[in-house]
Amino acid sequence: MGEHLLKVCVRIIPHLAAKCKTRYVPLDSRAILYSVSLLKIGYARLRIFLSQRRRRFMEENRAENQTPRRQHTQHPTHQVHKKKKGGTAKTVIGTILAIGLTTCLMFFAIFMVYVHTSLDLNVDISAYTLKQSSTVYYQDKTSGEWVELTKLHGAENRTLVSIDDIPKHVQEALISIEDERFYSHHGVDWKSTAKAILGKLTGTSTRGGSTITQQVVKNMTGDNEVTIKRKVTEIFRALRLEKNYSKDEILETYLNLVYFGNGCNGIEAAAESYFGKTVGELSIAEAASIVGITQFPYKYDPSRGDWYREQNKERQLTVLYKMHELGKISDEEYEQAKVEPLVFSWDPGFVPSAGVASRVDTASSTEYDSYFVERMFNDIVADMHEQLGYDESVAKDLLYTGGYSIYCTVDPKVQSIVESVYADRNNLNYTSSKGELLQSGATIIDNTTGDIVAVAGRVGEREGRFLLDYSTVVRQCGSAIKPLSVYAPALDAGVITPASVIDDYPVEMLGGSIWPVNAYSGYRSIMTLQDAIRNSSNPTAVRTAIKLTLPASYAFMTENLSFTTLTNDDMTAAGALALGGLSKGVTTREMAAAYATFARGGVYTTPRTYTEVLDHNGNVILENKTESHAAMKESTAYAMNELLKNVVRNGTGTGASFSGMTIAGKTGSTNSNNDRYFVGYTPYYTAAVWVGYDTPTRIVASGNPAATLWKTFMSKVHAGLPNKDFEVSSADMVSVTVCTQTGLLASAGCPSQTVKVAKDYAPSLSCDGHISVTVCADSGMLASDYCPNVTTAYVLDLSQPNVSSGWGYKRELLTTPLSAALQATYQAQLEEGLISSIPAGEPVRTNSGTVQLYSDLMYRGMCTTHTTPLEPTPDPDAPDDGSGTTPGGDATTGGDSGTQTPSDNTGTAGDSASGDVGDNGQFLNWLLNNGGTGR
Ligand SMILES: [Zn+2]
Ligand SMILES: [Zn+2]
Repeated sequence: MGEHLLKVCVRIIPHLAAKCKTRYVPLDSRAILYSVSLLKIGYARLRIFLSQRRRRFMEENRAENQTPRRQHTQHPTHQVHKKKKGGTAKTVIGTILAIGLTTCLMFFAIFMVYVHTSLDLNVDISAYTLKQSSTVYYQDKTSGEWVELTKLHGAENRTLVSIDDIPKHVQEALISIEDERFYSHHGVDWKSTAKAILGKLTGTSTRGGSTITQQVVKNMTGDNEVTIKRKVTEIFRALRLEKNYSKDEILETYLNLVYFGNGCNGIEAAAESYFGKTVGELSIAEAASIVGITQFPYKYDPSRGDWYREQNKERQLTVLYKMHELGKISDEEYEQAKVEPLVFSWDPGFVPSAGVASRVDTASSTEYDSYFVERMFNDIVADMHEQLGYDESVAKDLLYTGGYSIYCTVDPKVQSIVESVYADRNNLNYTSSKGELLQSGATIIDNTTGDIVAVAGRVGEREGRFLLDYSTVVRQCGSAIKPLSVYAPALDAGVITPASVIDDYPVEMLGGSIWPVNAYSGYRSIMTLQDAIRNSSNPTAVRTAIKLTLPASYAFMTENLSFTTLTNDDMTAAGALALGGLSKGVTTREMAAAYATFARGGVYTTPRTYTEVLDHNGNVILENKTESHAAMKESTAYAMNELLKNVVRNGTGTGASFSGMTIAGKTGSTNSNNDRYFVGYTPYYTAAVWVGYDTPTRIVASGNPAATLWKTFMSKVHAGLPNKDFEVSSADMVSVTVCTQTGLLASAGCPSQTVKVAKDYAPSLSCDGHISVTVCADSGMLASDYCPNVTTAYVLDLSQPNVSSGWGYKRELLTTPLSAALQATYQAQLEEGLISSIPAGEPVRTNSGTVQLYSDLMYRGMCTTHTTPLEPTPDPDAPDDGSGTTPGGDATTGGDSGTQTPSDNTGTAGDSASGDVGDNGQFLNWLLNNGGTGR
């Protein structure tokens, strides 16, 4: 049985180790080898032990078996069994103990290896001991050398104080109350730790046991989770900290780092905030009052009210008692401190000390870091928190005063242009109905590296540090999403090609209205992909997204283009993915990175603001390697560049155009007009610009202010740069000449365009949809034999085999509910026998546009203007003889046998030559009977 257990253990433990490995840390192979060898030793020992036991047992048994049989027969089984059971029990207990011990040892070994190999035990307190500002470097573009950009300016309200400037009684007040054996332990006070554990087990105490060193560790990491792992890590880190730093350095760090209530980190801030003094000016009584707060700031912060002030007084007395008890203050000092009245800064009659009063003046001088440096700073703080485990406020302290070297990606020239354009309010001088000034944020990426080279956070004069940076605010981007969420993924998947045509016709009825509507009025029927993007047609985007499928669109955005702000609601909403009505929105940072992918031949690169951070010893503490992946085929990027160039050349993005540079881009605005976007790129840079009010309000402006702003700084950024085209290969593409109304290879009579299409997706069918008809030049209807002026026109018949199979789309006719007036009109027509039934609704019609559908022509029928043989051309001078035709249409003309009108009910009243059918019930009848234009 013991052996069996052991075997189970042998199987389980490596399994556990493997689990550890995958779940937490790379447990290095040494750890596993070590534990396995330990286990082997334990196992071998156990085997020896067991075999010895077995041998002894056999011997005993043999001796027993030699006793007379008679005795055996009396209580045979019982006797033997009893004896055997006793032996086995001992063996089993022994085995279990041995296994237990081995396992404990082994886990301890694993644990130690784990602690030493996987946990970063070093805690950098240089911010509080070194107090040296950090330097930011940028790489000079021409020389490739790293040049100093700036020194980080320390945060306001953050005064670090040296241990030499902290009076002894302040230090002693802290040590007495928080960690009286501070100078004798090595980071951990085992005595009070044991007491704390015991207290926890018995339920008598809930806290304590943490030394000042441990509290420094805890505050550095901001890790307040109560877990064994955290506690153990904290202990090891505290031991390491004591090894690396002196007691004074640790105490100094504590006093500069820890929270003292009322928004004060550090004793200097607390001294100023509570008593209007520098720490050097604090009395014993005041020091005890402040030091008492740290244990439980919520309760002991006297600024919170009278009750809290009483709690603080009680706590202060405890601190003083402890100081006196430990002999840190004399009897006299103790008695005096107990009764000394505490005058807080909010008390009447309070006067700040001279030292503090003068400091306030010097702190008001303002020098701002660029928006770029602020963004980079925030990026590093976030990474230090995430990757190194520092509390965010500690990370900031470290960056300001830890003497770090930071290597950033800024291009100072671009940054200063953008910064100056944004500083000038005249570049975006709009005010909302609520009186707010229009705001904007922008991110600029270098297309060669994919790195962020410039940032703009706000418009107008700088009013403070680290104010809301609009370039990272999540706002709506409207149609600027279409190339990313719809057209690029659809091209990439071969759902559409640059040769495609898409129907600009509503997709469905939503709540009694046609959806989606366009920014321009009405619908323009079949259009090329190029026109769909250029005009920013909404139905074509929705239609393409549906064909692509919404999950594919969502995956492209979140995986290929790494967008992080899309929600689950967006995943299933065509209005979100196809039209940009996202539930939350996007940031200019992610938009710029996504569009840069087009310029970068389909390669997405995570945008970064820095490459490396080194500590004051030159150790790399953060390495920000670029992550790049192919987000789309190069042929897709090539096609998108062509399509988006057209938007700026002669589409919705002309406002961003400036001469001498290849520019591509896309505008965006929302239905409510609360947000305006423009993301544009050249072969050199990509910039995403958002414009809007802080409180979302309708933007009333001429043109797209985002595009205008883009042009203002990008034209300056590109001054002097030679013009060139995007360096994106079209090697995998073929040129095809296609019909612009069917997307199939152009035949005679097709309006055509030549485009480059990915080889794999090139159309193979020829257009058979364009058929030649003779049309009366006067009426625009099918020409009869009597029409004097005829033209030959090509019209599109969507029912032709290649068109219907190649295009694969049949327009579903949408109807809107009839108005009461229309209902009455139809009723009258019905009673007159002009129509056979009242239509269920009014059909949604497209603006005639350029596409003349065969079915429409068929509907109009034969020319009703010229129904009789031509008279010899009358002499123009001759008076009207009244015998000719009746131009303009006679209401009573009817029964024209040659007509091809789909309805028998021809020649109705008001039938004019224009083909206007708004009042025509027969059109509806025909549509209802024939199932729509696509037939
Ligand atoms: Zn054609
Ligand atoms: Zn005619």
